[in-house]
Order: sequence, then structure tokens, then C-alpha cells
Amino acid sequence: MINVGYQGETGAYSEGAIYEYLGKEINAISYKNFEDVFESILRRNIKYGLLPIENSLGGSIHKNYDLLLKYDNLHIVGEYSHRIIHNLIVYPGTKLEDIDLVISHWQALSQCKDYLNNKNLKYEAKYDTAGSCKFIKENEKRNMAAIASSRAAQEYGLEILDSGIEDNKNNYTRFLLIGLNPCEIKEEINYKTSLVFSFKNVPGALHKALSAFALRDIDLTKIESRPNRDGSKEEKYSYYFYVDFICHPSKIKFSNSLRHLREIASFLRILGTYPKEGEEVIINTNRMKEDYTIGILGFGRFGQFLGKEFAKRFRVLATSRTSYEMVAHNYNIEWYNTLDDFFSKKMDCLIVGTSILSFEKIIKKISKYDLKDTLIVDVCSVKTFPKEIMLKYLPNSDLLCTHPMFGPDSGKISWAGLPFVYENVRITNKKRAMEIINFFGEKGCAMLELSCEKHDEYAASSQFITHLTGRILAKLNLKSTPINTNGFNMLLGLIDNTESDSFELFRGLYKFNKNSEFELQKVKNAFKHIYAELNDRKINQVDLGISENVLCIKESKTSQMLEMVLKKRENGEKVISLAIGQPGFIPNNKVSMNGIKAIVENKVKYTKVSGILELRNKISNYLKVSRGLNYNSDELICTSGAKNGVYLSLQCLCNMNDEIIIPTPYWVSYPSMVKLLNCIPKIVKTKKENKFCLTGKELEKSITNMTKVLILCNPNNPTGVSYSKKQLNEIVYVLQKNPQIYVITDEIYEGLMHEEKFVSLSEYKCLRERLIIVSGFSKTYAMCGYRLGYVASTKNIIKYINRIQGQTIGCPSSISQNAALSCFTDEVSDWINVQREDLINKRDYIIRELDREKINYIKPNAAFYIFVEVKDCFNRTIVDTSHVRNSIDFCEHFLNRYNIACTPGVSFGNDNYIRICYSIDNDVLKQVVTNLIKCINNLRLK
Ligand code: NAP
Repeated sequence: MINVGYQGETGAYSEGAIYEYLGKEINAISYKNFEDVFESILRRNIKYGLLPIENSLGGSIHKNYDLLLKYDNLHIVGEYSHRIIHNLIVYPGTKLEDIDLVISHWQALSQCKDYLNNKNLKYEAKYDTAGSCKFIKENEKRNMAAIASSRAAQEYGLEILDSGIEDNKNNYTRFLLIGLNPCEIKEEINYKTSLVFSFKNVPGALHKALSAFALRDIDLTKIESRPNRDGSKEEKYSYYFYVDFICHPSKIKFSNSLRHLREIASFLRILGTYPKEGEEVIINTNRMKEDYTIGILGFGRFGQFLGKEFAKRFRVLATSRTSYEMVAHNYNIEWYNTLDDFFSKKMDCLIVGTSILSFEKIIKKISKYDLKDTLIVDVCSVKTFPKEIMLKYLPNSDLLCTHPMFGPDSGKISWAGLPFVYENVRITNKKRAMEIINFFGEKGCAMLELSCEKHDEYAASSQFITHLTGRILAKLNLKSTPINTNGFNMLLGLIDNTESDSFELFRGLYKFNKNSEFELQKVKNAFKHIYAELNDRKINQVDLGISENVLCIKESKTSQMLEMVLKKRENGEKVISLAIGQPGFIPNNKVSMNGIKAIVENKVKYTKVSGILELRNKISNYLKVSRGLNYNSDELICTSGAKNGVYLSLQCLCNMNDEIIIPTPYWVSYPSMVKLLNCIPKIVKTKKENKFCLTGKELEKSITNMTKVLILCNPNNPTGVSYSKKQLNEIVYVLQKNPQIYVITDEIYEGLMHEEKFVSLSEYKCLRERLIIVSGFSKTYAMCGYRLGYVASTKNIIKYINRIQGQTIGCPSSISQNAALSCFTDEVSDWINVQREDLINKRDYIIRELDREKINYIKPNAAFYIFVEVKDCFNRTIVDTSHVRNSIDFCEHFLNRYNIACTPGVSFGNDNYIRICYSIDNDVLKQVVTNLIKCINNLRLK
């Protein structure tokens, strides 16, 4: 016989409702209050409880709404409307005129108020209708009457004086049948669903929430609100909304309406889906399987989720690393604090619900217990790994590998249709294993017998990718916007779903499924392909393994020009190349001889990482004597060229996504270096009227809270212009306001000032702690191929640059360092002065010629470059076959037509110019200038 609980004394209306609704074969059990009924269902003392939820005259019974919310593991499984017929009941023999007082529940009294007043009967409220009958009977009250059911009169042997005394005959009470398990869903029956939700109060939210049903023509039969006592303190009045609606759960609009509501609601719980009143009653007469015991080891998120459901059918024991005693108690699960206590109990099945990462450790630990009569079930989200571990450490136990492919979120409403994958790894007792497998089957899971290996193959490309996507999206910090699309809402939902699982679980999916690494690689490649396609590039199969940072870097235009030059030379053509930035003169003989000497004397071992001390002392002395700067040898490091000095300095300072300010026109390699370091080149446009020098204003405008470094090339390549004191003052003024910004001053051309004295940022003491000076021997000493530069900065910065150099390069060439020792002599100094004089003459010659032809250029005062404006030549007409639209077209045309190679301005970030290197033989220079003038005039005249 099924036990069904109700609130009230024997004979209460609720008791009558139970028999009317469920038939005579039921054992109705009376409880003092509603909460006791809920508790008893949970404790499995009774199978169901029948509780009033509303009366057609008196309205809702709020207490039960609150209890439905509180007991979140119980379900509504049925509803019944009971007609309430009130009777005036007296001690046998009592007459109407004997009655001094009528007693009953206050609601019954109020429903019979007119009747009582008409009869001039006084009344008083008692706790219960049937209880009032009991009171009259036990105390033989012959001057009293009770209002109660006929059932109560019968129960206490009392007499009914009058029946149907309620003022309004439309008096019904709706009852809900509450049980542990959700109701079975049958095709042919009409179902009602009750749910409760809450949301953040924003205008129109309730309307939007209800539109989830209205839009789909779903019949909403009731809405009730109750105070939400969990609401934030700022919101005085916030509510839970209880809704009943009629729709069969198999209909698509059922799941769509819930999904829609979930997007709006901050909280949503289904209280139950049950046959609508008048439909067949579906109650579960299954006996509890008290004789089958399940142990759960690992009672975390998933262990609890499974345990709660198992406990409705089986005896369940649990243990974990952390104590979850209270949770276990609430689910009616026996709790054990130690493994010894836990395993001292006999269990048919042990569910291992620990994390994947701790699985091996746990299995090793439990292998010392006697488990030969226990079926061991793992529920890991990866499968081959736990299978191998269990086979290794548990040779005597039956083993069942399972993956319930749902969790506390996806399986919240129902497990119906959700995949349950399993492999009978070693089963000797089939009946015992089937008990578990059938449990999931009966809950409607899509059962799939699959090998663990196959599972992992599928899971890596589905489950792992889902979690990976969710985790990546979470890192993007996506926030809901007022213009969310359905797709975007799905992404936000995915973040919630994946983040509610532990990171350990995600890591487990990666580390313990060998297919996941391959899938991750595919994701990286897919990203590369898409990124390339967005940038109008295509990645060849052979480049897939190449770093994305490297693929971002374009081949330099200078090298492209050089290729064309070489091709022409191979074809026997005479080509003048001015494309590469190197001096036309050769190194001083003394330097070369010192280099040779170093080889002959075998000075070819590694030097100190920072370079030979003698050389650093000489550089230190040079900086002091020639430039008035104080840098000790431990504030200096020799590098493999100044280029490498710039890169090492950036490496030393920059973190991913830092912004590096680079004024245009810039030296070609700066932006690429910045990109290689995963940073952002912040290219700042400068003006022709300032000879393309950066102004304080331009600098200030480009600074953001991401700015890390300013790179200033002074004297500038490609313009050959050095900054004036006034210009530097402006820059320093802005830098002083932004003390977080470091400065790299690239001064590789400082030795080739034409007339004026060089002014450098290094002269500003206020910048000393955040300034890095880069220079070298390539230009002034014509030692390009020696690859020798140096960096001067604070001791600390140099220490870190030293660390990088030590781990990547070792040290610059010992031969070059030895050769450079002779650079700091008077003889070499005089020789440089001669070269400088020559460069001045060459510069003056060019500008005279260009002026005569009214060709625009930026007048250089250092280095050996002139930046010539060619924009007047663009888009004039087709010359030969080439149409000149930009600086590259111009250079190609100049090369093809005149066999002279120079560098397009676009390489330096300014497409209106070309760079000519004038450190060449005078005859060649004449030829270049004559042809350049001819070329420009031809193009701009057309
Ligand atoms: P989890 O982070 O993977 O596992 C947490 C559980 O592992 C807790 O019970 C924790 O115990 C236990 N644990 C962790 N390290 C331990 C150690 N060193 N020694 C002993 N116990 C340790 O989260 P989960 O979501 O609950 O997953 C548990 C298992 O279920 C995993 O194998 C997972 O793959 C599987 N699973 C999860 C889902 C899901 O939706 N979450 C779905 C299907 C399968 P304490 O709490 O006592 O510290």
C-alpha cells in the first residue's frame, strides 16, 4: 500500500481529497504541519504528499509555495481539485438552539460567515477543521458546533446538523501531489508544468518573461508572486514568480519557451510536469531498492548531482576529501568521514566521482580495500585513461566505465534524451551492473554502448572543443549588450555552462584524452587560416607550423628591391643599387688590420656576454668625452649590431599587447620587431613642415594607458634629419608628464652629423632611469658586416638585456669587438671627419640639382639619406607599361627604366617619398641624380 501524507487531523478535507483522488488502496497519513509532509517524503517515510495550494474562494496557500521552493529535490507529480462541502457538526443529541459557539479553522469560518450570522451563531477560530471535531468529541462539548467535513463527523462519531452551509457553493481546493521522482511522461496525456523564476528588476522584465509563453500560444493558467528574501539589500521588493502552464513536454514550443525564459530569468526552476486535472493519475508504485547499496567516492559537484537521484531509489553512502555531511543529510545519503569507515560498509556498486586529475591516485588508494564483490563504476568525462587505470589496479573487481554526458546544468530539468555512454569492461555479475545501467535508461537517457577509445575520439572533437570555446570566450570578458542576437546569447550561455564546471575538469579533458592535443592544434591552425584570410593572405600548408607572429611580418620592400637588382645583374645588366642603407666608403685600414690580427692571434673564443671590458671602457670614455654622458662599463652592453640592440631593449621592456609609439617615417624594422613581441606598433604621423620630426603634441595625442615605449630614431633614417633642442624639449615635457613610458633612442647615425652638433634625449637627466641609448659601428665606421652595436642604459636594464643576450646570442663576434677597439683613436676620428666632409659635399650637390628642378625633398643634416618627394609623379599617365600610383611603382619604374634601385617611402610609412642613399662615388651620384631628375620630370610632365 502506498503511503500518502497530508496536513491536519484525521478527517481533514485533505484526507478526503487523497481518497477521492487516489482511491481506497492508499494509506493516508496525517501530519501536524506542511513542512513535516515535505520532510517525510524526503526521508522516504511516505511516497507522496497531497498539499493544498489554493482555494477558489480563499486564494493561495502561500506557505506551500514557499516550501515547494525550499525542497528543491521534490517534484509535483499531480493535481486535484476537491469540492469543499462544509457541515455544521455537533455532539450527538445537541440541537441548534443549544449552540453557544461554533469552532473551526478561520478560513472555514469565513466561508460560512453569512450562514453563521443569519443563525446568530458566535464563532471562534481553532487550528483545524477536523481538529475542532476532535475537541468537541473529546471534551463532550454539547454547547458547541464545529465546521468540518462529513468525513470528520464520521471519524469522531459526531452528528451533522446541517450540510452545505458554505456561503458560496463554488468552493474548491486545488491540491498538489508531491513526490521524490519526476512524473512519467506519456504521449496521450495533457500535462501541466509548474515553475518558479526570478529576474533582475528592469523595466518590462515580467512582460518579457511571460512573452516566452504568450508568443507560443501556451496556455498560462496561474501566476503567483512571493517575496524573494534572497534579493539584494538595495531592492526592497523583489519577487519569485510561480507560473503554471499547459503544454506537452514533447512539443518543441515547450523547450523553446523554457530556453527563452532562461535567457531573461536570473533564476528558474521547474517544480514539476504532471497530468492536468482530470487526466489519468500517474503514480509510481515501484518499491525502493533498499537492498542495493551504492557508495559514492568524490562527492563534489557531479557526485552530489548523481547521489541526489540515486538516493531516491537506492541506499546511498558517500565520502569525499571535503566534508559534505549536511548536503548528504539533505539528500538522505549516509555520510562517512574516512575511507576506512566508508569501505567497512558492504556496497554493491562504488561510483568514483573524483576529478580526472586525481583518479589514478584515488584508485591506487582504494585498491588496498577488499572490493572483489563490488562493481566499480567510473563517471570520468574521458574514458580510455580510467579504463586503463582500473584494469591495472583493480584486477578482481567488476568494472563498468560510464560517461553520463550531462551535468547539474544540462540535466537540471530532465535526463531524457541525454547521452549515457558505457562500456562493460569486466562484468561477471550482469544483474548487478544492469541495475545501474537501467537506472539511467529508465530516466530516459539515450543509452549508448561504446568502447572507451571510440568515446575519446568523439569527445575530443565535441566535448573538449565545447569547453575550449567556452573558456576562450570567457577570457574575452564578453558582456551582454542591448543588441544581443540569438547567436550572441548562445555564446553567453556557453560561457555560463562551461565555467560552472571546475577548471580541473577542463584540464582533465585535455590532459587525459590523447586526441585533445590534436584537436587543439586544429583549432590553432583554423585560427591562423581565418586570420590570414581576413588579412587577404593565404597560409600554405608548409607554413602551418610557423609562429603567427612571424607570419604577420611582411617581407621588407628593401629586400624585394634587392632581389630585382640581383636578377638584373644575373642577366648581365649594370645596376646601381642605393636601396640598402650602408655607407659607400670602406672601413678604416687600422680597424680592418685589428680584425685580421684578432683572427691570427686566435682571439676567437666567446667573450663576456656584455662584450670585452676594454671595449666597453672605450665606449664609456667616448660617451663621456664626445657627448658628456656618464655610462659606466656595467651600464653598457655590446650587441650584434644596433638592430639587435633595439630588439633586445624591446624584449627587455615589453609585455604582450603593450603599445609602442613609432613616429613616421620610421626605420623599416621597428614595427616588425614590435609585432614579433606580440605588442602593438602605434604609428604616429608627423608633418612635412616639421621635417617629419615628432612634435610634443603628436606624442601626447598618441599616448594611452597601454603605452610602454617611445622609439625615437635620431638622426632619422630615412630622412637624415636630426632633432633640434627645441623639438626635444617639447618631447621631454610630455614624457615628464608620463613617467611610465620608456624611451629607446636609436642614435646609430649620431657620428655622421653634417654641420651641427648632435643633440640627444640622453642629455636630459630626468629621463636617465628610463632611457635606452642604442648605437653601433655599422654606419660611422662603415663596419656594417661586422655586426657590432651597443646599448647604454641603467645598470638594471643592462642586467636584464645581458640575461636575454646570454640565453639567445651568447656574445657579439669576438673578432668584431677586437677590431672595434681601434675605432676610438685620433687617426680614425680624423678619417671620419674626412668622410663627413665628403657626405656634406654630396648632399649639397644633390640639393642644388633638385632645387634647380624644383623637386621637393627633406633637407638632411646627418647620415647619408635624402628623402625625395615623388607624389607629383603618381597617376599621371602610363609610362611604358608601368602605371605609377605609389612609391613602389615609382621605384620599380626607376629600376626598370634607369637601372637604379632606391627604396620606396612606403617601407618607412610614407608613400609620397623615396629614399636615396648618397654615400656613393661622385660619378655614380651624378648619374643617379641626373636620371632621377629625368625620371621625375618625365612622369610629372605627362
Ligand atoms: P571535478 O573538479 O572534476 O572533481 C571534483 C571532485 O574530485 C570532488 O569530489 C573532489 O573532492 C574530488 N577530488 C579532487 N582532487 C582530489 C584528490 N586529490 N583526492 C580526492 N578527491 C579529489 O568536478 P566534478 O564536476 O564534480 O567532476 C567529477 C567527475 O565527474 C570527473 O571525473 C568528471 O569528469 C565527471 N563528470 C562531470 C560532469 C559535470 O558536468 N561536471 C559530467 C560528467 C562526468 P572534494 O570536493 O572532496 O575536494
